[in-house]
Amino acid sequence: MSESVLRLVWVYPDLLSTYGDQGNALVVERRARQRGLNVARVDVRSDQPVPTSGDIYLIGGGEDRPQRLAAERLRRDGGLTRAAENGAIIFSVCAGYQILGHEFINDLGRREPGLGLLDVVSERGTGERCVGDVLADIDPRLGLPPLTGFENHQGITRLGPGAKPFARVRFGNGNGTGDGTEGAYSETVFGTYMHGPVMARNPLIADLLIKLALDVNALPPVEDTWYEALRQERIAAATQPA
Ligand code: GLN
Repeated sequence: MSESVLRLVWVYPDLLSTYGDQGNALVVERRARQRGLNVARVDVRSDQPVPTSGDIYLIGGGEDRPQRLAAERLRRDGGLTRAAENGAIIFSVCAGYQILGHEFINDLGRREPGLGLLDVVSERGTGERCVGDVLADIDPRLGLPPLTGFENHQGITRLGPGAKPFARVRFGNGNGTGDGTEGAYSETVFGTYMHGPVMARNPLIADLLIKLALDVNALPPVEDTWYEALRQERIAAATQPA
């Protein structure tokens, strides 16, 4: 990170923000500011080049057609791939997660290449759409409390050997392949099916991204009562039968 400014890039809000994903940008921004960091947030529309010098990139969920358009434009632009090569932290949700993989099935029923930044492949699930509250245990190596979120996807995602499961579901579907995994990550690239938006429910994920960007092991604590109340409410929703 340069000049103690955290450069936060929100990728394609015009195409991939169907599910309140702006909340993720707001939470990362706020939690960085609470630690005294200067934050420069750039919202990059899909007709603009993706800057390559960001520290943290967020990419959200979307419906099938906008997802294809986003994949086409990101491939053509190349900025997000270069940012990943520079070691930027990338956090993606649902359609964004599928786009970061090798390929997914697009709205025309065809195989659409992704960016290949995560070793995952998505296909169309043949079962019911995965919709509902989720509770999952995040990979213990990441040192985070249980993940809560809301999923809404038809695609399912298989992990290759280069990707680790981000979490393992206790309730809900996650990657939807029946292997109990939810999301994926490599060193600096993360993907999840959790909407919610996921950072509002799991603010320590925002802290993890900030720590990775700053290359520090800890951040000063902040007051988390409100987040915790929301977390408990959603954990109850995920674990109680409808
Ligand atoms: N269109 C994708 C699917 O249904 C992603 C949906 C989403 O982002 N919620 O799998």
